[in-house]
Amino acid sequence: MNTFKIAHLYPDEMNLYGDGGNVRCLYFRLAKRGFDVRVREVKIGDRLGNFDLLFIGGGQDREMKIISRDLKRKSDELCYAVQSGKTILAICGGFQLLGEYYQSASGEVMELSGALDFYTVGGKERMIGNTVFKTPFGTVVGFENHSGRTYLPSHLSPLGKVIRGFGNNGEDRGEGVLYLNTFSTYAHGPVLPKNPAFADELLRRATACELAPLDDTEETLCHNTLIKRFT
Ligand code: GLN
Repeated sequence: MNTFKIAHLYPDEMNLYGDGGNVRCLYFRLAKRGFDVRVREVKIGDRLGNFDLLFIGGGQDREMKIISRDLKRKSDELCYAVQSGKTILAICGGFQLLGEYYQSASGEVMELSGALDFYTVGGKERMIGNTVFKTPFGTVVGFENHSGRTYLPSHLSPLGKVIRGFGNNGEDRGEGVLYLNTFSTYAHGPVLPKNPAFADELLRRATACELAPLDDTEETLCHNTLIKRFT
């Protein structure tokens, strides 16, 4: 059996609100189905290399600045991965890194990967709170904390529509971006353990195969309890 490779980009710098738990969730949901899974940490100075699924977590402005120079060195690989339809999950700051630039609330502009042609501008007021949004594969619940307002061009679709929370910018009710197999969201948490349908959508695309159902009794109870509480 081929080994399923998860690449975890900038695990030390981009890992807010337990976002690294998404990697463990993906690992668990694959291993339970009999996959041989390897997680490779991709750090500053490493090549992105080959993978079946790429994960990037959230980060504060300071950490984003630390990795931004290295990100430019990886941008060709990242752009190719996005445009060739590799499965990617990017959370908050990790989401912002896929865009052209991030202007922090203090006005500092960080040139980013340019893998997707959107931009983010930091605002004085942070967007913080529980968030619930509708996606083509079910409702997703999470937690958001960002100053960045992300604006998508008309040819890019949001991942979901906000039911509760701010979403990309607190204005257009869009949340995240879904482009080919690149999934980006502002939802921390980690977001995947309590949204099993979202997790399995990523895995279906990354493995290109139908997946046997798992016993998600607890995950579903948690998901439904939170949806009920926040909507
Ligand atoms: N530093 C970015 C912002 O404030 C991302 C924050 C995050 O990843 N939670 O918008």
